[in-house]
Amino acid sequence: MKKKKTKLIPPDLERCQAEKSNGWNFMTLGGRREMVRCDNEPTVIVRELVPGEDGRKGSMSLCTECLVQFMMRVCPTAETHAFEEIEHEPST
Ligand SMILES: [Zn+2]
Repeated sequence: MKKKKTKLIPPDLERCQAEKSNGWNFMTLGGRREMVRCDNEPTVIVRELVPGEDGRKGSMSLCTECLVQFMMRVCPTAETHAFEEIEHEPST
């Protein structure tokens, strides 16, 4: 039996991988909820230490702003998530 391999998307070090729905505004009435990819520069990579609902451990890059939202929504602990700071090369 062949194992079905699904590629995990590697963390994008150039662009935050969070998707915001209407700028994280849950109070928006009416209209479609569009997911917009954040285009800030990421500062941290979040790695799942326990498999998610899809049975896979994912990782994604987040900017400071999205990290704050992530902390509030997901409430990660040291057991569930690891955080890695992204070191950017000085652009000189
Ligand atoms: Zn972001």
